[in-house]
Amino acid sequence: MEMTKEAIKQVGDMKREHYAMIINGERVESSSGSTFETFNPAKGEVIATIAKANEEDAEKAVQAARQAFDHGKWRKYPVGKRARVLNKIAQIMRSRFDELVEMEVLNSGKSVGAAQVQINQSIEDFEFYAGAIVGHRGEVNNMPYGFFNYTHKEPVGVCAQIIPWNYPMMMAAWKIAPAIAAGCSVVIKPASLTPITAIILNEICHEAGVPEGVVNTVPGSGAVVGDYLVKHEDVNKVAFTGSTPTGKDIMEKASQTLKRITLELGGKSPNIVFEDADMEAAVAGSLFGIFFNTGQSCEARSRMFVHEDIYDEFMEKFIEKTQKLQTGNPFNKGTHLGSIISQEQLEVIDFYVQSAIEDGATIATGGKPMYPEGFEDGYWYEPTVITDVTPDMKVVQEEIFGPVVVVEKFKDEKEVIKRANDTKYGLGSAIWTKDQGRATRVAHQIQAGIVMVNSPFSAFPGTPFGGYKQSGFGRELTVETLDLYMEDKSVLSYYGPKPLNPFGV
Ligand code: NAP
Ligand code: MG
Repeated sequence: MEMTKEAIKQVGDMKREHYAMIINGERVESSSGSTFETFNPAKGEVIATIAKANEEDAEKAVQAARQAFDHGKWRKYPVGKRARVLNKIAQIMRSRFDELVEMEVLNSGKSVGAAQVQINQSIEDFEFYAGAIVGHRGEVNNMPYGFFNYTHKEPVGVCAQIIPWNYPMMMAAWKIAPAIAAGCSVVIKPASLTPITAIILNEICHEAGVPEGVVNTVPGSGAVVGDYLVKHEDVNKVAFTGSTPTGKDIMEKASQTLKRITLELGGKSPNIVFEDADMEAAVAGSLFGIFFNTGQSCEARSRMFVHEDIYDEFMEKFIEKTQKLQTGNPFNKGTHLGSIISQEQLEVIDFYVQSAIEDGATIATGGKPMYPEGFEDGYWYEPTVITDVTPDMKVVQEEIFGPVVVVEKFKDEKEVIKRANDTKYGLGSAIWTKDQGRATRVAHQIQAGIVMVNSPFSAFPGTPFGGYKQSGFGRELTVETLDLYMEDKSVLSYYGPKPLNPFGV
């Protein structure tokens, strides 16, 4: 089937029955004519069909990105002009904020409050990189007399960006903004469960003036389209966020062409509450740390350690507040937890909770699927607190990716650091204490890329975000991310008065 094409001048209606993929600045259908359905997981309802990319479509997207990079104008623009386009993307997003929030809630089931925070941060990412790229520059290096050397920073090329379903728009923004700021071209592969807002963001890029081919979006299967991009000779870099097993698979495949890669993977982040913590702040922050985004966050603080002296008081308050959390209609302003992303993920969560029961743990609250009124056909799970766990239990070791926290008691600082680090992951961590010395001591010993001290929030544009150990490598959201989309080129010249003849012949 010949692809139907329509150049994107304006985004138009965001809410549609069908979304095409975006290749070379145009809306195009799959070369095979295939589509797939996308759902509102809060209701278990189909909301739209999506053009389903196959290898042929992925090839077209890579060639469009390659052409735009090798022969296009984007990377040659004065940096201020690129920055203006990034700011324009942010402006369009801001002017259509409510619609973007609505689309994000519809396709992901997350609460409107969570979606607002994430769309806002997506906008700020573009603003941040618009500023950061203007100040970004190479260096002049110290050389022996007669030699002049500078580091010239050049965009790395065509980047495949593969993103997950938990923050559909924000992950697209985290990926696209620094890449195009640096002058790269990108091919985005959104998660099959949540393709809509990434497609819309690509359209907004074109409306804002990003030239054709610089940003392309190919919704389709990770195992087919994702795999194709990762192996492709003309792709210079892969930026991936998702599960640790998929990250390992990508690293292995990317090695065949020695692609640059950054991996932002899973986590099982500790949340340590010391005996001198501000009780109210620690309870509120720990609650947010696990239940924000219905626990579907890579940096969810899903392993709680509470000092034995305050354990009873803390847990009473924590459980009481957990039971007060509102789960239901994601569009209600008072809703704290939206739905789970899919039936499959709901089953994963319940599997882990059942395994905890079998292993002898206690379900202090929650522990089962739920059916909020009007949303009975969606995928919902009670906010769940599990106590009496031991370090070897599955529920303590493995990432669950749902509203489930495990709680352990501890006695002293040294012991809790050791236990907090007893995981293959190393993404987030949180410390609750009023003792600044302790906060610093512990922060420096935790094996994780992110330490939150008395803070419920893990990141703002500007904070380096990424993991230690099997949580991956590379940092996003910060100035240095630009370097991960660039190559350092050394330019060495000789300026001495006499020609050099090192062989002396
Ligand atoms: P995943 O398999 O890692 O998927 C993430 C992205 O990678 C999706 O776009 C996916 O496409 C794509 N993908 C899958 N297999 C691929 C392959 N072989 N080559 C290239 N790309 C591939 O994650 P998931 O299956 O959605 O979720 C599974 C678990 O991952 C969750 O339970 C959770 O523990 C974890 N997770 C972590 C994060 C995080 O932020 N760190 C985010 C989401 C999930 P498709 O959507 O088409 O499969
Ligand atoms: Mg998967």
